[in-house]
Amino acid sequence: MARYTESVCRLCRRETMKLYLKGDRCYSDKCAVERRNYPPGQHGQSRGKLSDYGLQLREKQKIRRMYGLVEKQYKTYFKIADRQKGVTGTSFLILLERRLDNMVYRFGFANSRAQARQLVRHNHFLVNGRKVNIPSYLLRTGDKVTVVEGSRQIPCIIEAMEAMPRRGLPPWLELDKARFEGTFKTVPTREEMNLPVQEQLVVEFYSK
Ligand code: SF4
Repeated sequence: MARYTESVCRLCRRETMKLYLKGDRCYSDKCAVERRNYPPGQHGQSRGKLSDYGLQLREKQKIRRMYGLVEKQYKTYFKIADRQKGVTGTSFLILLERRLDNMVYRFGFANSRAQARQLVRHNHFLVNGRKVNIPSYLLRTGDKVTVVEGSRQIPCIIEAMEAMPRRGLPPWLELDKARFEGTFKTVPTREEMNLPVQEQLVVEFYSK
């Protein structure tokens, strides 16, 4: 799969907001957005007002980068959401939230979605008692994600779980820390997702 290998802080700076792509560093004063909150590059500080298209594009890129997806995969989620009943933008965000790598991050078993993706790929999690190593696996309500017993002493998992309270657990999830197990309780509402994004702009972007 295509992978972005440049500085991820640059992506946050491009969107002029924290996308929390780096774990601990994002909460420190070393965060690049805290230091230089303007787009990177020679013309970063002198960019003018964005057109409607520009606004839609930036919002689309912001959410895509937040979840660490490539364009093709991202657009596929949009097409699926577009075929579903209900508000397309909300369905789209719910699909992104249901990904296994995102859930591992939300439960606090990883410090970032990129780290969660790698841990999933390396077989450190069970879904309903069965090993699943596909980061894009979509969870259903009631599904349980457990850290494999032999992986519970991995330093990055322990560190992430210790740092978890600073992020907080979303209300649609349940976590049993002692059992290293998280449960996807219910499908979240848009308000519960509490994401600082305007998904309607993404809908407009892809509906052209
Ligand atoms: Fe983004 Fe984190 Fe880098 Fe800050 S430290 S710019 S939030 S990835």
